[in-house]
Amino acid sequence: MLLTITTAYKPATDLGYIMHKHPDKLQSFDTSFGKMHVFYPESSEERSTIALLLDVDPIALVRNHKGPSGEGFALEHYVNDRPYVASSFMSVAISKAFRSAMSGTCKDKPYLVDRVLPLEVTIHVLPSRGGEAFLRSLFEPLGYQVELKRYELDSSFPQWGMSRYFSVTLRNDLRMKDLLAHLYVLIPVLDNDKHYWISEHEVQKLEEKGSGWLEQHPEKEQIIKKYLKNLGAYTKLAMSRLSEEEAMEDTEDDLSVDDKLKKEKSISLHQQRLNKALDELKLSGAQSVLDLGCGEGKLLKLLLKEKQFDRILGMDVSYRSLEIAKDRLNYERLPQKQREKLRLIHGSLTYRDKRLKGFDAAAVIEVIEHLDLARLTSFERVLFESARPLTVVITTPNAEYNVKYESLSAGAFRHSDHRFEWTRAEFEKWASGIAAKYSYEVRFEPIGDWDDEVGASSQMGVFKIKN
Ligand code: SAH
Repeated sequence: MLLTITTAYKPATDLGYIMHKHPDKLQSFDTSFGKMHVFYPESSEERSTIALLLDVDPIALVRNHKGPSGEGFALEHYVNDRPYVASSFMSVAISKAFRSAMSGTCKDKPYLVDRVLPLEVTIHVLPSRGGEAFLRSLFEPLGYQVELKRYELDSSFPQWGMSRYFSVTLRNDLRMKDLLAHLYVLIPVLDNDKHYWISEHEVQKLEEKGSGWLEQHPEKEQIIKKYLKNLGAYTKLAMSRLSEEEAMEDTEDDLSVDDKLKKEKSISLHQQRLNKALDELKLSGAQSVLDLGCGEGKLLKLLLKEKQFDRILGMDVSYRSLEIAKDRLNYERLPQKQREKLRLIHGSLTYRDKRLKGFDAAAVIEVIEHLDLARLTSFERVLFESARPLTVVITTPNAEYNVKYESLSAGAFRHSDHRFEWTRAEFEKWASGIAAKYSYEVRFEPIGDWDDEVGASSQMGVFKIKN
């Protein structure tokens, strides 16, 4: 992880006073997550740059229980994006390396503290699941000019599409201590590691560092929520391990207490989806079913209880979710008959897969919105052209309903891993197009509380193959 701050303020060598770091020296510090180095790649009267390089050591993370932890050995603890991503660790490093500049003290030239400087920051790299729009929405309201470079997942396989990683350059005229406060708060907001723990101390720090700018920021709510989640990660990463399912449950996390209470009054929206899908599968007369993107296996659990189904296959791209599913279904202790009818497989819905052929029905519950739009065509072919079950049930959020969730800011998605959320018209157009193309009929059903104007919270399409 590398952060550079450049100024063309004259004389630019004043940067050394402002940062309390001598331009001729390389300084290195040990931290519990690796080493950090501060140095000046350039220093002249015209232009000076200070760099903060963080050399995160994934092995030290595991040893010091700051990284994804758990019992025994798992490669994920050692091989993860922590060393390369400007995560919460960068925030901690900024506050350590530039403590005086952050608190606005400058012994030798105190007047520099309040001077508005032309500053340019570059960060390699920042993760942003919310993509470019989310990144911009954090910095632009504070007056930054934002330049982004998004990286491919793998340049040898351009068809895999783009990653969530960006190199970011920010330009603005402001005081150094304000710049550092913005970075300190906003970098962890972008960090997506879900292991978190919130202490009073974190809340206090946020209040302190956010004072004077966060109050008016249009994304204030998102920033507070995400900051508290992600920075806490630094201390309590070891508490639990990341899984897609935790990510899934964040949908609920992302809602305010009020929204949550409203939801708890009735049976949860997700339970309603599962029940509706189950009803459709039963009604279809299917005996063999696929649960595609099965997650931690909530639907599988319901399917297993039904005598009607004698062959059930759950598939997910997340190995971790499958492990959780196995655990929650008590797979090892299931009576032999039940165990024989259930199979869990690891695979992606965007690759043709022979194992999915020969089933009567398929459920795809809250999964399509996790796929990149560019990958949807592959998904359609995998399911409707290759696997070709007689019945397909697909559910997805209804974006129109988002206005009813008071805590969701306009245009935001219900969950940070969603790549899109569709209105009823958008979903219906997509689904009808597929039905026509692959010779299915489709009908639509609302799921959850109904509102005359925006419809229901979730939507379902039920496809039947034409004879
Ligand atoms: N259907 C489950 C889980 C929904 S969460 C339920 O209703 O409870 C979305 C799930 O889709 C996650 O478990 C995620 O791992 C999975 N997923 C995302 N992309 C996928 C892909 N390309 N292939 C298979 N599963 C995928």
